[in-house]
Amino acid sequence: MDEKYFAQKIEQKWQKRWAQNKTFEVEIDSAKQKFYVLEMLPYPSGRLHMGHVRNYSIGDVLAWYKRLQGCNVLHPIGWDSFGQPAEQAAIKKGVNPRDWTEDNIDQMRQQLQRLGISYDWSREIAAHRPEYYKFDQWFFLKMFERGLAYKKMTKVNWCPRDETTLSNEQASGGVCWRCGTKVEKKDIAQWFLKITAYAEELLHGMEEIEAGWAERVLTMQKNWIGKSEGAVVEFQIPNSRFQIPDSKQKKNLESIKVFTTRIDTIYGANAIVVAPEHPIIEENCQNFSDKVKTKIENNTKPNRQMCPSCQFRASPVRCIADKPC
Ligand SMILES: [Zn+2]
Repeated sequence: MDEKYFAQKIEQKWQKRWAQNKTFEVEIDSAKQKFYVLEMLPYPSGRLHMGHVRNYSIGDVLAWYKRLQGCNVLHPIGWDSFGQPAEQAAIKKGVNPRDWTEDNIDQMRQQLQRLGISYDWSREIAAHRPEYYKFDQWFFLKMFERGLAYKKMTKVNWCPRDETTLSNEQASGGVCWRCGTKVEKKDIAQWFLKITAYAEELLHGMEEIEAGWAERVLTMQKNWIGKSEGAVVEFQIPNSRFQIPDSKQKKNLESIKVFTTRIDTIYGANAIVVAPEHPIIEENCQNFSDKVKTKIENNTKPNRQMCPSCQFRASPVRCIADKPC
């Protein structure tokens, strides 16, 4: 017997045997208890790094443990391969983004196989392939039919050089993360998913997992679900100089609606601050000084400073609803 562990020799032998015997491919077996191990699917960026090795070893240990306990373990793998880096690589290297992605997957699959991770490779999926994303499209259409996917005009960060929208992070400091061009604001019709329709259900579901998670994580999750109960208040604006479009002509803005979760503090309100994206700002931009206009244009950060010149003096008149619109 060898006194040392010769990785090349031993691992190749067993990996070959596992592949031949389809050791990790599973079928439905009602006699055994089912166990499903799924790690986060990797983005095929090129080569595995030690973070991958750490993450996928942990999942593999669990899969082995449950297998040895007699469970029927499904341990699949796939690729989170629909992403912006492929687009960037295509632009930069002048290659087809699909070829680049498939090459990376081939490399990383070989590496995972050499690590001996016990995946059922017969179930491999990749998000950029039509046989996978046809289901994304199907889900989207179902959501659209039920009014859960809708289109709305919204201001986005826009790089005029790359001709692409940018997230707030990608437009940090007012310049494009790729090319350094000054970011513009552009009105574009965007798709939104109405996740708030499920707020109640999601919050209810969280009760089941509350014991196992830190308070900080639960709070983040609750904030993300974003259920907000409050009132919509309509403020009158006496002697308003502001114009709003009204079918064909413009009319004077006489009131403005505000949503608040703290209707009990409404008597302390003495001003309304309007976000730079609000349509009345655009309609009335000609009335602002150049200094204020520049401030509005440069507002690309998520926690931006509100424009002090856009405040209205107003007084609460009536509460018109008990739920957000
Ligand atoms: Zn750019």
